[in-house]
Amino acid sequence: MNMACQSSDELEVLVKEARTYTKNGKVADYIPALGKANPNDLSIAIYYPDGRCISAGDIEEKITLQSISKVISLALVLMDRGQDYVFDRVGMEPTGDPFNSIIKLETIAPGKPLNPMINAGALVVTHMIKGNSVEERFQRLLSFVREMINDPTITYNEEVARSEFETAYLNRALCYFIKQHNIIEEDVEQLMDLYTKQCAIEMNCLDLSRIGMVFAMDGVDPQSGKQIMPVDVARICKTFMVTCGMYNASGEHAIKIGVPAKSGVSGGIMGTVSGKYGIGIFGPALDEKGNSSGGIKLLELLSAKYKLSLF
Ligand code: GLN
Repeated sequence: MNMACQSSDELEVLVKEARTYTKNGKVADYIPALGKANPNDLSIAIYYPDGRCISAGDIEEKITLQSISKVISLALVLMDRGQDYVFDRVGMEPTGDPFNSIIKLETIAPGKPLNPMINAGALVVTHMIKGNSVEERFQRLLSFVREMINDPTITYNEEVARSEFETAYLNRALCYFIKQHNIIEEDVEQLMDLYTKQCAIEMNCLDLSRIGMVFAMDGVDPQSGKQIMPVDVARICKTFMVTCGMYNASGEHAIKIGVPAKSGVSGGIMGTVSGKYGIGIFGPALDEKGNSSGGIKLLELLSAKYKLSLF
């Protein structure tokens, strides 16, 4: 279990300023269970390699990972299968399209998604998680998340998983399209079961910031000294966070913020500042591209104040 976070006056000032931007956004409701979130919520935690943590806002609020889980499943699959196998089946290029778009599956490389951060690519990645059953594959992914957070109690939100499973017609369409091209082999309902559980893995901002810290430390948990994932895998994941982590707002994010980050439609953002710390943000009101309105502003203010841009 992780230590409690120290509340920070400096972060509180940034949260206060960014909170006005939550009004510009809207909570996602295409997954019905996510529609219950409070659009005014906004919180942040920063986790340092020495175990210190600072926060502002209501960091105990729980979030499901949604698309943030795509980075974690990618790391696991790169370890399971190696780079050649993975990148034969999913590409490395940003799309400039919304995260759930189907169009380039037909027009660019038939059946092979352009990158692992869009839904089509993430479905292929989840398909590649090794194990004999959905349950075993999910437990492997969950154990990996628990190891990064150093908390064996992390689990998934069954209501959110079920809600997405019952309504994910577009994701099923992506799967069938890809299956036609023989990149996905398994039964689509089985894959949707695994994918919706993956997206519903639940935690608070503090936990999210600890995952960001492990990526920041090139895959090492500095407290146990354990290399949780190889350096190369952490590097590949961070690169995807820069090029594709904020969907079709990734270019603007690189220019205005310059911090490798991954967002999800629950309103979470996981950021990673190499060698320094991990960032976990939660603000469920989303902008038109599906990124947290207040969360993006908060990250922008943080990056400007502490000169965090990579560039
Ligand atoms: N579970 C969501 C979906 O597939 C994840 C998308 C997201 O967070 N952008 O639609």
